[in-house]
Formats: sequence, C-alpha cells, structure tokens
Amino acid sequence: MKNIAVIGAGTMGNGIAHVFAQNEYRVTIIDISQEALNKGLATITKNLDRMVAKERITDQDKQNTLKNIQTFTSIKEGAQNTNLVIEAATENIDLKLKIFKELDEACDTNTILATNTSSISITKIAAVTSRPDKVIGMHFMNPVPIMKLVEVIRGYSTSDEVTNTIMELSKNLNKVPVEVNDYPGFIANRILMPMLNEAIYSLYEGVAGVYEIDTVMKLGMAHPMGPLQLADFIGLDVCLSILNVLYDGFGNPKYSPCPLLVNMVTAGKLGVKSGEGFYDYAENRKAEKIAEQFSK
Ligand code: NAD
Repeated sequence: MKNIAVIGAGTMGNGIAHVFAQNEYRVTIIDISQEALNKGLATITKNLDRMVAKERITDQDKQNTLKNIQTFTSIKEGAQNTNLVIEAATENIDLKLKIFKELDEACDTNTILATNTSSISITKIAAVTSRPDKVIGMHFMNPVPIMKLVEVIRGYSTSDEVTNTIMELSKNLNKVPVEVNDYPGFIANRILMPMLNEAIYSLYEGVAGVYEIDTVMKLGMAHPMGPLQLADFIGLDVCLSILNVLYDGFGNPKYSPCPLLVNMVTAGKLGVKSGEGFYDYAENRKAEKIAEQFSK
C-alpha cells in the first residue's frame, strides 16, 4: 500500500497528508477549493519547518516529504490508482455520502475507503457504496502529526482483513491504533463530549468561572488543556454537532447540549477559529500559541 489520497486539505486533511508523506507514502490531497489546497500545503511546510528547527527531522527529510505530495481539485482525477482514500472533508452527512458515492465510482474495486469523521456512522457511509466491507473509520486526533492515537472504527460490514490492514498501516505511521465498533461518538467523543458539556454546564450554572474550571481539570486531573479551552480548540460548532449525534443516537437526555453552548454557536462564537469562544483569540495569534502548547 503506497498510494494514498486524502479528501479535504483543512485542519485534519493536511495533517493526515503530512504524516503519510513523511512516512514515504505518495499522497494526493483533493479539495474542491484551490485556496484550501494552497493553505494546506503552506501549513504542512510550516509544520515541517518547525520540526527541522527542533532538529526532529533534517531539511532533506522536509524536502522528501513535500515531494511525496501532489494536489488535485477533482476526485475523478486525483483518486485514481490509490490503495486507500481517507476522507477528511467538512463534517456534514450529505456531503460525506456524496463524496463516498463518487469515490466508489472513481476508485479501483480493491481500494479501501476510510473516513476521518468524528461522529457520523461508518455503517451509514458504507451503505451508499458497493463495497461496505472495505469502508472503515480512521479517526486521527488533532494535531495529527503529534497525536499518537488513531481510533479505527469498524462499520457493521467492515471485514476483518480491512480492519487488520488499517491497524497495521496506522502502526507503520508510528501511531497507536485502537479498534472500536460503530456506535454514536465511537469511544473518544462518547467520553470526551459529555465531559466538555459538563464543564460548560458548570459555567452556565455559575459553579465557577472559565479560569477556575480549566485550572481544576489541568492541575487536578493532569489534563494538558482545560475542557473549555479544549472545546474552543475543537470548535464549539463541532462540539455541538457531536453532542447532537450522541443525543439523537442514544435518545438519552444526559447528552443534551448545554443551552450556553447552543447560544454561543448561534452567536458565531465558535472558539479559536472564529477568534472568540470561552477565551478571546483576536489578538496576537493566540490560537497558534495554544496549538503549540497542546503539542508539548
Ligand atoms: P476543515 O473545515 O478544516 O476542512 C474541511 C475541508 O474539506 C475544507 O478544506 C473544504 O474545502 C474541504 N471540502 C469540502 N467539501 C469538499 C469536497 N466535496 N471535496 C473535497 N474537499 C471538500 O475540517 P476539519 O476540522 O479538517 O475536519 C475534517 C473531518 O475531520 C471532519 O469529518 C471532522 O469531523 C473530522 N475531525 C476533525 C477534528 C478536529 O479537531 N478538527 C478531529 C478529528 C476528526
């Protein structure tokens, strides 16, 4: 397995492409937006530069990594002759179903189709293809070049062979894969999101302030980031949509999103990416500093 395509050049897509290219896979990044492709490549270059500066890789490693990456704006052209496609486009069910139908038609029958979705059912995505046994979740964590975990999610029909291939592949990337079954939120978000929601409820009910809640979890539980800061980092809209998936999927009120979270998303306060969430990121590129802090 040498030829990989990544759909989406955003936060996760460029990180996934970076990791594969650095491990000597030939990577094609496909995005509908040329601007997103340019931005994605610029991010990969910047992250490689940082690794060179920290002497984790050489300048030659950086050049070799960049040489392994090409970009396309069309699935039909870019996804041909690939052994594995990892979809990391915007988290939207209709969009993902459309992309998987297109991939199913464009790719060789043996190509494995993976999705990096945080919350959408793998089984549902697989059902629109003619190869549900070859559809799987490959859930990388952000920032991808730094975070070790890959949640490998088996859809209802995913074969043992495909699961084993993806587990082995993840190890080849120096990641630690963990196999889970396809239920709402998988494991990572099923456990993380209720915790973030509870932190937001604690703020909403006036139990404590932002600083106090985050400090308790950082210093008391040895979390590298407080839950409110982490929610800002993930994106409050993303948190809300995952909580809604948990709520709809289990029909259990314990997952119902805090009204404060709903209000903030409605007001466009989405966290780091919009410049304001529980913290203010408008000044002096605090978002980048947080990403760096998270990576230590
Ligand atoms: P993002 O918004 O940063 O990037 C999404 C990219 O998809 C954009 O560049 C957009 O132009 C592109 N895109 C949209 N429609 C497309 C299409 N039809 N074909 C090709 N490209 C298309 O999003 P992200 O944060 O990178 O998230 C991507 C996926 O990864 C989502 O499914 C998300 O749930 C998942 N995820 C995100 C995180 C995170 O922390 N951000 C963590 C784990 C998983």
